[in-house]
Amino acid sequence: MSEKKVLKDSFGRIVTYLRLSITDRCNFRCFYCKPIKDFKYLPHSEMLSFEELYFLLATLKNHGIKKVRLTGGEPFVKHGFMDFLSEVTKIIPSVHITTNGYFLKNEIDTLVKIGIKSINISLDTLSPDKFVEITKVNALDRVLKGIKATANTNITTKINTVIMKKNINEITTLISFANNLRIPIRFIELMPISSEVRKEFVSEKTVKEIIKKEYKMNREQLSFGIGPSIYYTVEKEGEKGIVGFISAITHNFCESCDKIRITSDGKLRVCLASDEEVSLKKEIQKKDEKELINAIRRALDKKPEKHNMNIYEHKTDKAMFQIGG
Ligand code: SAM
Ligand code: SF4
Repeated sequence: MSEKKVLKDSFGRIVTYLRLSITDRCNFRCFYCKPIKDFKYLPHSEMLSFEELYFLLATLKNHGIKKVRLTGGEPFVKHGFMDFLSEVTKIIPSVHITTNGYFLKNEIDTLVKIGIKSINISLDTLSPDKFVEITKVNALDRVLKGIKATANTNITTKINTVIMKKNINEITTLISFANNLRIPIRFIELMPISSEVRKEFVSEKTVKEIIKKEYKMNREQLSFGIGPSIYYTVEKEGEKGIVGFISAITHNFCESCDKIRITSDGKLRVCLASDEEVSLKKEIQKKDEKELINAIRRALDKKPEKHNMNIYEHKTDKAMFQIGG
């Protein structure tokens, strides 16, 4: 691809990865993600249509985007999502999904046929009661069935666990669960995205200390698809596996940031931690590739060198379900 076509921010970072939220709707209500009491979902009329998304994806592909992660809200609640996925793989073959796992069991065969490359499934606890406390939905059993079904396929499967005081006592149980399924588990540090999570925050350092009491840990240069995760192998008698950390508070991995985030109403959010957004909707609806790319370049010029997230002070206007985590 010519140097002229690639998308680059003002710090020289080349963008190759799109994180696309296709809906802000979700059937769960995780306290760290959907904290607002009287939240309003976007009206359907404000969300980009599938046709508009295809144009956006084709344009981005022509300018160096190689991988797309579909997220939300919960992407599987979007009506027509499975047909949409098939079309997306024809435009950008490297398609990845982040999901709460609720719908996986029923859809897994089709997802394999479509050729989805990887699926990250959120799981914070193995206790049914705690699952309800965190998500407000009694669905642990169903999610576990979805995880097992996905782990049994050739789709790269990972568990994402947000680590909190609420589930700190389950760290090694969750690792064993993932090890038994032979899939990696990643511990995500809580981020103060619109929510008051300070009281629940647990650092990567604390998680590692707990793991090391039971497992031998070794840093590995592993990559499972995309993203800023740092991986370790973990081993104890009769068990081994892979543990990753995504620690936006402890580390700043912005130097290697190669992604853009676009919300379901077509706004390019320059950084997860910043409320600065540029709407691309007008350009998408005009189907004008040149104008769309110019708008994206203008947004990229605003991308900060580093995020400024601090668990004690940071606050954003939008919550994670509205941005697309
Ligand atoms: N509904 C899907 C799911 O739960 O995987 C996709 C969207 S969700 C916003 C994507 C990821 O963001 C999930 O793994 C979730 O745990 C994580 N997340 C949400 N709010 C967060 C927060 N405040 N700090 C850290 N991770 C968060
Ligand atoms: Fe829904 Fe995912 Fe947010 Fe939980 S983390 S409320 S499942 S979007």
